[in-house]
Amino acid sequence: MRVFFDNAATTSLDEAVIEVMINAMRNNNGNPSSIHAEGRNARAAVEQARKQVAKLLNASIGEIFFTSGGTESSNMVLKRAVSDLGVRRIISSRTEHHCVLHSLDALANEVEIVFVDQDEAGHIQLGHLETLLQNKTHKTLVSLMHANNEVGTLLDLDAVSELCQTYDAFFHSDTVQTMGFYPIDLVKTKINFLTGSAHKFHGPKGIGFVYINKANQIHPMIDGGAQERNMRGGTENLYGIIGLAKAMELAFEHMEERREQITQVRNYFAEQLKANFDDIEFNGDPFGQGHYKVLSVSFPNSDKSDLLLLNLDIAGISVSGGSACSSGADAGSHVLEALKGNSDRKTIRFSFSHTNTLEEIDFTINKLKEITKSAMFAV
Ligand code: PLP
Repeated sequence: MRVFFDNAATTSLDEAVIEVMINAMRNNNGNPSSIHAEGRNARAAVEQARKQVAKLLNASIGEIFFTSGGTESSNMVLKRAVSDLGVRRIISSRTEHHCVLHSLDALANEVEIVFVDQDEAGHIQLGHLETLLQNKTHKTLVSLMHANNEVGTLLDLDAVSELCQTYDAFFHSDTVQTMGFYPIDLVKTKINFLTGSAHKFHGPKGIGFVYINKANQIHPMIDGGAQERNMRGGTENLYGIIGLAKAMELAFEHMEERREQITQVRNYFAEQLKANFDDIEFNGDPFGQGHYKVLSVSFPNSDKSDLLLLNLDIAGISVSGGSACSSGADAGSHVLEALKGNSDRKTIRFSFSHTNTLEEIDFTINKLKEITKSAMFAV
């Protein structure tokens, strides 16, 4: 048996997504920029996908641009906001994904970077954000993720949106972990930029999108042809775009039932952990303002606890230590370090999808018991 509890790193493709992609691979092979029938067919599929994404977010078609994923989208927003929109200060947090943090590193010589205070669970301190925004010396962009990918802590998008409007700041949110898991209505919640990545909601990898509010005119990051309404050169990832739209449609259509399934599995896991192990801690705010798909668990240190991830893998259970997004290596977590400082406890991120079952939880608890009994922990 193999159990996949690493759904914040990526998810499996929905069967229906595979079907529409295969169908397109067989029957829709034009270049969307060509004007003949094959090209028009491909263009129609791209525009239909854009319409679908826009509709689900209550955005306009002209505000959705397909990219290679969350990393490219956030790079584009942050770098172009500085080069094209006069942004001279970016307020962000230390627990953002590396696609934001490393973009900020790249911009550090051009703009002032300020990190807003967070509590130990990762909640943004809105009072501090407001104090920072009150000081309006520079045109400011606030870049704060909707849900943290390691501990799951959620941001109150509406509250930050209000603050940004009050103090005339741009607002970018990395919504990669929440897209398809929480409803977002861009008419109700004013956000200048947000990002999505298909592989986090059972779509294909290497395709995502950026929403750019129509009031914000920025230049492309990738120069080339006139694709994506002149916003991203290069022949479109046609099959990826088709797969993304289908996956997003399914994620929104089944949001509530999936949410219930995932919550049930995650909560059962938390209960079983508490019942079977001493001295475990949950990071973030999993039973309050936390993403229902994530459970970040810290186990007590022991001389062999570094091997926990490896032993779980050998036992058939895929999980992640810290963040597994880039290298797959267990390199320690900038998020946990920012929130809790250095700790010798061993943290494992378990992240769930609607395809997981309670049997998989029982299996995992048993394996964890075997592993920890075999001299790793004194439990
Ligand atoms: N932002 C967050 C919060 C993520 O978890 C990820 C995961 O990889 C990304 C951005 C990057 O997205 P992508 O893999 O599509 O580049």
